[in-house]
Amino acid sequence: MPELPEVQTVVDHLAEKIKGRVFSDCQVKVKKMAGPDFKNKIKNFKIKTVKRRAKMIIIESIDDKYLIIHLKMTGQLVFVDKKGKAAGGGHPIKSEEFDITKPNKFTRIILNFEDGSLLLFHDVRKFGWMRIVNNDQWTKINNQFGIEPLSRKFTLKKFEEILQKRPNLKIKQLLMMQELIAGIGNIYADESLFEAKISPLRQAKSLKSAEVKKLYQSIIKKLKEAIKLGGTSVNTFVSSSGERGRFAGKLKVYKRAGQKCLRCKSILKKTKIGGRGTVYCLKCQE
Ligand SMILES: [Zn+2]
Repeated sequence: MPELPEVQTVVDHLAEKIKGRVFSDCQVKVKKMAGPDFKNKIKNFKIKTVKRRAKMIIIESIDDKYLIIHLKMTGQLVFVDKKGKAAGGGHPIKSEEFDITKPNKFTRIILNFEDGSLLLFHDVRKFGWMRIVNNDQWTKINNQFGIEPLSRKFTLKKFEEILQKRPNLKIKQLLMMQELIAGIGNIYADESLFEAKISPLRQAKSLKSAEVKKLYQSIIKKLKEAIKLGGTSVNTFVSSSGERGRFAGKLKVYKRAGQKCLRCKSILKKTKIGGRGTVYCLKCQE
């Protein structure tokens, strides 16, 4: 599933394409993937801003409506201008099989703009969704998520407070709790913990203050680095311009179980924490 850097990459690319455009209609092919009364609500939806919250894409209208999109496992958004030229982002459908610039059998929702351009929502596995909510509903959804780790509010002190909220939880699980910190999933939890030389199995309360500081810095560093490189393409994630995220080449533990640690050369171990595959170095992550 795309995490903070991947969703941010999609948002950055989409924003420049669709800001100011007006949705005029839609075709919903898989009903459960669009929220209630979707067809009505999308009409005359004029886009003011496109932003990210946690792992969601938030498209705000000029009259305070919010189109929320979650790509989940295999979702992909492709903007197609009226000449048929595409720019999208998310998980690519194999291009040799399907033309992503046209509706195909994996296209679940088609959003039409007034000027004839389209926003296509392809999703092989149909876990993705979009819905339109008003200001109050959006506030409620927004409040379910914790702090944005790249916001100014995410200070070291704030991070310490968050750790104290769930002292007995394994640190990796805590990092992935969306109600505490928004946007970190399996990839960036593993990578941040490796960077900070902290075992993912440690209880939050066992971290010494120097370790908390190092982890705090590592989270920010890894997320920023990934955004700069257009995210990770481990799950064949492509950026809006069709390029694969280049952060995959920078991964040090994620999907590297059984390979040598890039720091100490011992073999990286795989375990499960909270049901999620976790890769770490027994030797240099204490
Ligand atoms: Zn190591």
